[in-house]
Amino acid sequence: KHNPEIPEILRPVVSQLKEKIFSSDSFSDLDLHPHLVATLNKVLNVSTVTSVQKQTIPVLLSGRDAVIRSQTGSGKTLSYAIPVVQSLQAVQQKVSRSDGPLAVVIVWTSVNRVSLSLQPFTWIVPGVLMGGEKRKSEKARLRKGINILVSTPGRLVDHIKNTLSIAFSGVRWLVLDEADRTLDLGFEKDLTVILNSLNSAGPSRQNVLLSATLTHGVTRLAGVCLNDPVDIHVSGPA
Ligand code: ADP
Ligand code: MG
Repeated sequence: KHNPEIPEILRPVVSQLKEKIFSSDSFSDLDLHPHLVATLNKVLNVSTVTSVQKQTIPVLLSGRDAVIRSQTGSGKTLSYAIPVVQSLQAVQQKVSRSDGPLAVVIVWTSVNRVSLSLQPFTWIVPGVLMGGEKRKSEKARLRKGINILVSTPGRLVDHIKNTLSIAFSGVRWLVLDEADRTLDLGFEKDLTVILNSLNSAGPSRQNVLLSATLTHGVTRLAGVCLNDPVDIHVSGPA
């Protein structure tokens, strides 16, 4: 069990350190770009991670798919926004608008909230957002280049069908946020169109599903979208 490289006398120190790191509540102890941590602290004014973020961020940074269930208000947005931004930056160094969509985030009620959470990171990933705007101005922004595309399912399907400039071949992340709501509201068909469109563009992608409740629909959707996912369930408040 013991690591033979570590001298006996240092073992208690090492195990204490490990425990400390593992139970840390600070963003700076996650494996994140220091500028990303600085942005979280200074711009978003967050310094300690919530429970769901603590469990989710390392799993997503390790490259796994995940199903995340925790109650509304527990901080699910940053639990995926941080790994998405971090990983795009790590792979790409300098992301440019002309790279096109690298991440697709499907969300129902809070397009603007998700976009606001991502806005401080535009120095890493310059093209963020869409949704909630006039169709025409969205089209113009799509043409300019969106790297992290945040949209409701209906609007994205509209663009898939009517906007020629969407190319999904570079997409590395699919996030299905508020999955329970999306299904309750009857958007399963739209999700299928989006999935088919993404799948035909390329299979190498990390998938994340987030939900406040676990319904049959959510479980089924997870079965269709996710590849050997890690199950993360945080009960109670953040
Ligand atoms: P959920 O998607 O689980 O309902 P949100 O991601 O919308 O939750 O976050 C709820 C609120 O908590 C938001 O106002 C957000 O800015 C805030 N928040 C998220 N993470 C943190 C954090 N680590 N520290 C402080 N506030 C946070
Ligand atoms: Mg949410």
